[in-house]
Parts: sequence; structure tokens; C-alpha cells
Amino acid sequence: MNLSNLSRRDFTRLSALGTLGVAAQLSDLTSLAAPTGQVQSGPVPSSKPVGYAIIGLGRIADHFMAGCQDTAKSPHPSKVTGLVSGHPEKAAAIAQKYGVPKSSIYTYENMDEMRNNPAIEAVYVALPNSMHAEYSVRSAKAGKHVLCEKPMATSVKDAQDMIDACKAANVKLMIAYRCHYETTNLAAVKLIRDGHLGQIQSIQSAFGFSCDPADWRMKKALAGGGPLMDVGIYSLNATRYLTNEEPSEIVAYSHSSLTDPRFKEVEENVVWMTKFPSGATATCNTTYGAQMDGYFRVYGSKGWLEVNPAFVYDGLRLKAEYTDDQGKFIQLDQPNPEKDPIHFTNEANHFSTCVRENRTPQSPGEEGLKDMTYLRQIYHSAGLNNL
Ligand code: NDP
Repeated sequence: MNLSNLSRRDFTRLSALGTLGVAAQLSDLTSLAAPTGQVQSGPVPSSKPVGYAIIGLGRIADHFMAGCQDTAKSPHPSKVTGLVSGHPEKAAAIAQKYGVPKSSIYTYENMDEMRNNPAIEAVYVALPNSMHAEYSVRSAKAGKHVLCEKPMATSVKDAQDMIDACKAANVKLMIAYRCHYETTNLAAVKLIRDGHLGQIQSIQSAFGFSCDPADWRMKKALAGGGPLMDVGIYSLNATRYLTNEEPSEIVAYSHSSLTDPRFKEVEENVVWMTKFPSGATATCNTTYGAQMDGYFRVYGSKGWLEVNPAFVYDGLRLKAEYTDDQGKFIQLDQPNPEKDPIHFTNEANHFSTCVRENRTPQSPGEEGLKDMTYLRQIYHSAGLNNL
């Protein structure tokens, strides 16, 4: 996967950092998420901000818009220049906050008119899952680069359609896997790639929360599935970037309370086990029935590491123990000093760099599509007919 290409190339350059002992070194690792894709022929680099239309003005959109504001000093800044919403009053208030002109506020019905708005070069799709495909494809057809939230879509076919539409329109497509651009996750990947843990034997990961019955996440037509689609995907994706391998076998179980009305349409719990070609295994849990802090723990032949929490916006913490090549016992305990909205700032910087320098994102549509196929395998193994 792309994150591993990134590690092979950029980790060499970063080897001078030595052990990951101090915050300054950790923050240097964010540069690992610099695009490494092939430079294609096309536009020359420019410092003009990349203008984004935000499609769907909910919770994650707020984080992303705040993240864009923090990119002003980046080589390729990102700016909110358009809004697409079903709620005009909310859109007007947000437009005022970010300096978006009235003429750049669209509805879901007329957003295709964005094609005539040169201030909008890209979109950030922050809608319920089942709407990702339609609005990504429409944006591509309007000539806009697409940064789409996870999960990429609610079917493998839709995910493929998104890739095809972006290719046909010659626009970039990136799935917003923000952990690919987050310092502590990258530091964990580096420890593994540098061989400090030896051969990975096994990974444990979980992520879940108790979902509000009124949330669209409880409607299968909007969500596509339950916690596996929403937060389990973080564990699935992490096991892939931590091992740098694709699953060879997956088995899963699911259970939903028959008496809890929340789980009439989507599942409550999923547990799955993955085997990778090297023999490494992973055990993951997700739920909408309990608070389950997102974390991962990796056991290798020479040591272990844990990032806990790993998937939330701040307070991430890396712990590790291993014996180095000189036989010295190393113990790490590194809180991440970065705070929200840094994930989103890094993510926006990355995509805007890809747009300006005509590069392939680290988490392109193909990365989202892979997860969609594994999610489908997990569901089918658990006896659920999703995706
Ligand atoms: P919210 O419910 O907070 O926002 C979704 C927005 O979509 C709404 O505010 C609304 O915007 C618009 N919308 C359009 N049609 C509907 C509909 N039928 N029902 C509900 N909303 C609708 O969701 P989130 O921001 O939490 O999630 C949005 C996406 O982002 C999801 O795909 C989710 O998986 C992903 N996500 C990613 C996270 C990450 O860390 N990467 C974290 C959280 C979510 P308006 O009122 O403007 O029309």
C-alpha cells in the first residue's frame, strides 16, 4: 500500500533521526506523508491556495475547515472557497466565518454548477457514507479534484465507479484516511519498518462507541453497515499499514442485541481475525454498543509497541519496548503533543500538494477500494450480506 512505499523511500532519509525520543523528532515524521507518487506531466507548482468546496456541513467538515485555516503558511495552502449544504442558514453562517461569497454556496441539487466556478478546484465530501459515490462522481464530472471521507462508499461497485469517474475526468481522488498523515501512527510504522520489533507475530486493535439511536449511522440506507464501516475500518486499515501486507485470510463473527431497537438495521458488534502472507495475524473488534477507545498493539519477535489512543484527534500516545541491535533494552513512552486540527491540516496539505504538483495521493481511491473489498469479506464471513 502507499503508506509503505512512503516508508521505504522517506524512512531512509529520516534514519538520521535515530530513536524516536523527542517530540521535535516525532513532528519531523509528518513529512513522511509528503507525496511520493510519480510526478506526472502537467501543472507547475504554485503557492496559490487550492480552493475547496465542502460538501455536507456536519461534524467532520468543521474539523476539516479548521484544518484548512492552519495551512496558510504551507507551500501549497488550502482554502474553503465553496459550500454545498441542504441547510441555507447554516451554510450562510459558515460562509461568513470562512469568507465564502454567497455565489459559491450551492445546494445538493445545483452543485453541478460548480463547474463554472474557478475558485473551486477541489471538493471535500463529508456526507453520510451512501452519498459519497454520487457526490464524488458529480464533482469529478464538474472537473473538481475529490477528497472523500472514509468509508469510501457503501459498495465495492460504487468505489470502483468513483475511481473510474475521477480517471475519466483527469482529477485526483484521495480517501481521507487521516491516520496516514498523523505523526504517532507514522512513528509506529517507522519503528516496525526499521526492524526494531523484528518479525511481526500478532496485532490487536479495536475501535467502537455507543451510538446515538438518532444518528444516520443507524440507518442502513445511509451508512451501508454498522460500526465496521464507520470505525472498524480504522483497525482494518491499521493492520494493513502496520504489516505492510494485504490479508490472505479473514474470518469474522457478528452479534446484535435482539432487544436493542438501535440494531434493527445495522450490526452491533463485529470481531474479525486476519492472517497475512508472512504469518502475522490480527484480531480486531468494533462495536456501536460500548465505548471502546481506538488502539492497536503490535507484538514482534524482538519487542512490542502500542498506540493508545491511536485513532482519535488528540492525546495519541506511543509506547514500545524492544532490544536494539547493540543488545540495549529500549523503552519508549511518547505522548503526541499535537492537537486537533493537525490531522486535518496534514491531510489538506497533502492533497493540495498532490493537486499543485500533479502527484498521486498516499491514500488514493484504490486504497479505499481495497478496504471495501476486505470489509465485504468480513461481513460475508460473519453472515451479513453488506457491500
Ligand atoms: P454529520 O451527521 O455530522 O454530518 C453529515 C452532513 O451531511 C450533515 O450535516 C448534512 O450537511 C449532510 N447530509 C446530507 N444528507 C444527509 C442526510 N440524509 N442525513 C444526515 N446528513 C446529511 O456526519 P459526520 O460529519 O460525522 O460524518 C460524515 C462523513 O465523515 C461520514 O462518511 C463519516 O464516516 C466520516 N467521518 C470521518 C471521520 C474521520 O475522522 N475521518 C470522523 C467522523 C466522520 P448539511 O446540513 O450541510 O446538508
